[in-house]
Amino acid sequence: MYRLSNDQIPRWKKESSVFLPSSIDSQCPECGRLVSFATAKWSPAPQNTRIAVVRCPACQTPTMFFLLNHKGEAGTLGSDEQLYIHAKPPGREALPEILDGKGLDDPLKRAYVSAVNVFNAQEWGATAVLTRRLLEGVTKSLLPPEYQSLPLAKQVEKLPETKDLSEPVLKIADAIRKGGNLGAHFDLEAEPTQEVSQLMLDLAEELIEYFFVLPVRIEELHDKIEDLNGEKS
Ligand SMILES: [Zn+2]
Repeated sequence: MYRLSNDQIPRWKKESSVFLPSSIDSQCPECGRLVSFATAKWSPAPQNTRIAVVRCPACQTPTMFFLLNHKGEAGTLGSDEQLYIHAKPPGREALPEILDGKGLDDPLKRAYVSAVNVFNAQEWGATAVLTRRLLEGVTKSLLPPEYQSLPLAKQVEKLPETKDLSEPVLKIADAIRKGGNLGAHFDLEAEPTQEVSQLMLDLAEELIEYFFVLPVRIEELHDKIEDLNGEKS
């Protein structure tokens, strides 16, 4: 089950005094195309639920939609009403750690969501453009104003000058040391709780990712992009 939003319902119809979606825009869970499902018939089910089964106009696979807590008072989803598609469409989901993270401001988060959305719409060119824009947003938010008008590649080069890249790592190491002290030296007042050990383990994972996972991933992505550029020239 995957929840759909109000703006994926372009049209409603009125049927014996209640409103029902008459079309739903979504990626098809089967073929992944962005299509408009014409929901001609909504069958009533217990507990104010409505169910519609519609064939994908592209691959013809039947797809099931559920309308929960249906009241149908207006041509829009009410506050309790929820629309679901039976399976999650293929594609990327924006990472919750980025969406809810405090490290990025709202325009950057929106730029990130836009990039994920166009990727899911299989607009590869637009994805590359928006991802570049996102990267520019990231460097601009880290660099002082005098570097912000430089070309993106130069901005990336300037990053280690203005941003102490080792600082986050030192903070993590310090936190693990302090947490480790709590465990190593017996102290009735300060015993490591489940929360502390959980946080330490999370931090250790971050540290491992930072040192071992991230550099390899960056190297691989870098090589792949180099290869693609080589193929073109
Ligand atoms: Zn399909």
